[in-house]
Amino acid sequence: MSESIVELKGVRKSYGVGSAVESEVLHGIDLRLREGEFVALVGPSGSGKSTLLNLIGLLERPTSGHVAIAGRPIEGLDEAGITELRGRTIGFVFQFHHLLPAFSALENVMMPAIIERGVPDDEAERRARELLARVGLAGAERKKPGQLSGGMQQRVAIARALSLSPRLILADEPTGNLDTKSAEDVFELLLEFNRDTRAACLIVTHDPRLAARCQRKIEIVDGRIVDGVSFGPTSADEYAMRGSPR
Ligand code: ADP
Ligand code: MG
Repeated sequence: MSESIVELKGVRKSYGVGSAVESEVLHGIDLRLREGEFVALVGPSGSGKSTLLNLIGLLERPTSGHVAIAGRPIEGLDEAGITELRGRTIGFVFQFHHLLPAFSALENVMMPAIIERGVPDDEAERRARELLARVGLAGAERKKPGQLSGGMQQRVAIARALSLSPRLILADEPTGNLDTKSAEDVFELLLEFNRDTRAACLIVTHDPRLAARCQRKIEIVDGRIVDGVSFGPTSADEYAMRGSPR
């Protein structure tokens, strides 16, 4: 059995706690992701997918219930501990790329390493160039986000998410904003990174064709997990036994 990268037990999340408009949007979520799994999260709009991703990504705290990331229960951690765990473990890709418009593609990808890890500029630059080449953007290093197509911007965002070598990628509708071909490319990149590094990936998507290419699909409706389906012979354990290219 491989180790859990994500473990949620009885997780509830309410917004507006203590106010007149308090509402619970996640009603007791149990979820486990194993190291190296590639999993789709699907469900109607407003069902709680982003809230769940933000909880797993340690951007939000649950109202109650247990969360452990990379084997670390978060209950006892203070803000600094949470930030450290997040930086060490998790890479985010959002639907809208959140790149900094005033900075080049290269600078956007270099920034997490410099700011969060104190990596020297030249080393961060070398790594960022490698990552940009890997996502098919060699030659576009000096371009600002506004000079790139939507698909290219999302590939820069992926390079940035990968820059700290995360063990878990959380992608919230990363292809939702893209044409079919660019969506395919972005999805392929995530798959490739998962194969190469065994980083787990949880991807929110409305595209059933992409969801069907994941190892597993989790469906959430009205804040409850209603279905979890495993596809084909690629459970994480079998995948691990077959060996993966490193
Ligand atoms: P999804 O990503 O599946 O569309 P969300 O997690 O964004 O769903 O939202 C789930 C529910 O929580 C929705 O009813 C939404 O309006 C509500 N919600 C999300 N974020 C907040 C917030 N910051 N404050 C109050 N309500 C929120
Ligand atoms: Mg959402």
